[in-house]
Amino acid sequence: MPENRQALFRKIPSVDVLLAHPQIEEALSGQPRVLVIRAIHEVLETLRAAIQGEVPVSEERLETDVIVRNVLVQMERLSMPSLRNVINATGVVVHTNLGRSLLADRVLAKFRPLAGGYSNLEYSLSQGRRGSRYTHVEYLLKELTGAQAGMVVNNNAAAVLLSLETLAKGKEVVVSRGQLVEIGGAFRIPDVMRKSGATMVEVGTTNKTHLRDYEEAIGPDTALLLKVHTSNFQIVGFTEEVPLSDLVKLGQKYGIPVMDDLGSGCLVDFSTYGMIQEPTVQDALEQGVGVITFSGDKLLGGPQAGIILGKNELVKAIRENQLTRALRIDKLTLLALEETLRMYRDPRMAVKEIPTLRMICASYEWLFERAEQLHALIQGINTENFSIEQMDGDSKVGGGALPLQKLRTRLISLVPAKLSAQKIEERLRHNTPPVIGRVEKDRLMLDVRTIQESDFQTLAQAIKALAQFNPKTDRSPKEA
Ligand SMILES: *Cc1c(COP(=O)(O)O)cnc(C)c1O
Repeated sequence: MPENRQALFRKIPSVDVLLAHPQIEEALSGQPRVLVIRAIHEVLETLRAAIQGEVPVSEERLETDVIVRNVLVQMERLSMPSLRNVINATGVVVHTNLGRSLLADRVLAKFRPLAGGYSNLEYSLSQGRRGSRYTHVEYLLKELTGAQAGMVVNNNAAAVLLSLETLAKGKEVVVSRGQLVEIGGAFRIPDVMRKSGATMVEVGTTNKTHLRDYEEAIGPDTALLLKVHTSNFQIVGFTEEVPLSDLVKLGQKYGIPVMDDLGSGCLVDFSTYGMIQEPTVQDALEQGVGVITFSGDKLLGGPQAGIILGKNELVKAIRENQLTRALRIDKLTLLALEETLRMYRDPRMAVKEIPTLRMICASYEWLFERAEQLHALIQGINTENFSIEQMDGDSKVGGGALPLQKLRTRLISLVPAKLSAQKIEERLRHNTPPVIGRVEKDRLMLDVRTIQESDFQTLAQAIKALAQFNPKTDRSPKEA
């Protein structure tokens, strides 16, 4: 090893010396000792690797003060939880990777008393004995949708699996080829069907399926006719799908129930808010479907859950399936779901107060105002890194809901100068809290539709920090 490397190694302060440093001592009073020691080891290890490396290490990096500063930064990083808040500036409202739906304030207010205390989760207060956890939402689901019976599980994937396993295990399920979809994150209808033990009988073609295709496929082993909402894609042009009502009539003729996996499952008619018509849960039930399944955290705007509604005898069979115990809903989810559903008793209030619905229905005028407000906080920033513009654009509902719906929105766009769009995206993603935008037209777009107003100041700070970022040293002024 060359002389100067040896000399550099000797200059590295020992762990004990660092632990005795006043700033580290102070940190020790607020942080677990193991964490502080780990931060020191990691910083020293990085330093040793740097000395071994090709690029010469400056003497400055070996100064105790500089090392201490790096240890403190590293400690902050290590003490951060893994699951953290981010600012969603993508404009995708139901963003599966960013946690889908935000719970309403009314729902959040329920967490402290109910999750921090005992509850009648599985206890009948009127009879003084064991009760069912499903009663806490079934009454509301029936009231809101007109369903004969209802049941909830962990998520919609579980709802589909459980329903198929109960109603069609060892039998045949007839489904259109145009509906054999894959939903993000590896939920594929043919795979779920296989896991349930049912045999899939595909009918029709990718773009067209007729009623007679279903009828010809019905045999002695047919247990179910299945319809699946194609969610995140749509076939346009020369296409034909059998309406649910026709499928139900066909089922009645042969005594076979129809199941509809609605995916998103909305309770409000979005067309009254100027949007593309989505079949509502109530519509599907009115047409006489046997069972429907949908998610709790997509268009419903509640917690992750799978909701099963339908005819008494079918839902009863599903509830009594042994598998239900393995897919059962947690009490935190249950309390959030009940409170979210209670808000739907007044649909106008639901649209105003359930964040997912509020963001989807936000008017262009309102978004324009929000963009002005955010822009005002960052106007006049003096930087050569980027410039700031406002422009129109489109947001997305996300979560496989209303895939063709364009939601006109207002964007703050950071136009690359010294920093590339990719660098801007990366720096904002590494901010605390992380800001997730989208790169489009070689700019970084921040869509005000999904940025919460309470985050405006924080976002402005992040943009100001980006303005001061030095692309030459790859550092912000406060980083060592
Ligand atoms: C989203 C979706 C699912 C899966 O629902 P999760 O709640 O994510 O488990 C199943 N089927 C359809 C049609 C969907 O859109």
